Amino acid sequence: MLRLRDIEKVYQTKTIETVALNSVNLTVNRGEFVSIMGPSGCGKSTLLSLMGLLDEPTSGVIEVDGRAVTSYSDKELAGLRNLKIGFVFQSYHLINDLSVVDNVELPLLYRQGMGGGERRQRALAALDKVGLSARTGHFPGQLSGGQRQRVAIARALAGGPEIILADEPTGNLDSVMGEEIMDLLLALNREQGVTIVMVTHDMQQALKTQRVIRFFDGSQVS
Ligand code: ADP
Ligand code: ADP
Repeated sequence: MLRLRDIEKVYQTKTIETVALNSVNLTVNRGEFVSIMGPSGCGKSTLLSLMGLLDEPTSGVIEVDGRAVTSYSDKELAGLRNLKIGFVFQSYHLINDLSVVDNVELPLLYRQGMGGGERRQRALAALDKVGLSARTGHFPGQLSGGQRQRVAIARALAGGPEIILADEPTGNLDSVMGEEIMDLLLALNREQGVTIVMVTHDMQQALKTQRVIRFFDGSQVS
């Protein structure tokens, strides 16, 4: 569903040029759960932002469903991002003065033709999937880290994405909560068929996924 061909990403500031990714070739198939490992600074976050169509490579081609991203119009691209891709971040990125259910509804606000009733219904269904039906009216500050990450996962799920891109989703959690989140992602992959690409530093977690891709210094090493 997602293919990167000969991807290079160079960050250029006034004085420094950083090659963040170099000759990356990578395919993610529908239904896979892939983990990405590697030391800090090796390009993992850059890779996820390219996969999420949030940024463009310096050279190389990204294909979604067999079609180069450059051949999509801006409107189509916005649609791809909004409809197909869900993001989960290490630090949750929730809005503290919105309730849990309002946070989960946020990405649905951009859906054309979706009314408030349907938004609410979808958000509640997503919260049910992550086991947070009893917390929909709470605010993020009233939840544990693990629960906040569940809200973030519900937000990613609410739009019915085909792929979830997760950047160290358990990085801020203790091992018990981290394992809970990992089990939730594994269940979403197995039971709902959501494709997942996850950056992690945790080898135990990575070994539970179907494929581990290791990066070093901007290149894939295995
Ligand atoms: P990782 O997620 O593996 O820690 P990153 O993808 O964040 O790695 O970064 C890869 C390299 O690119 C690092 O050297 C980092 O400093 C650099 N980099 C990342 N983002 C930017 C940016 N916006 N501008 C300049 N350099 C960047
Ligand atoms: P990612 O999930 O890609 O790591 P984050 O948004 O979680 O992205 O974090 C990006 C960087 O900012 C990380 O190095 C993280 O430690 C730092 N960071 C995130 N949230 C905070 C915060 N509230 N205060 C200070 N640093 C933060």
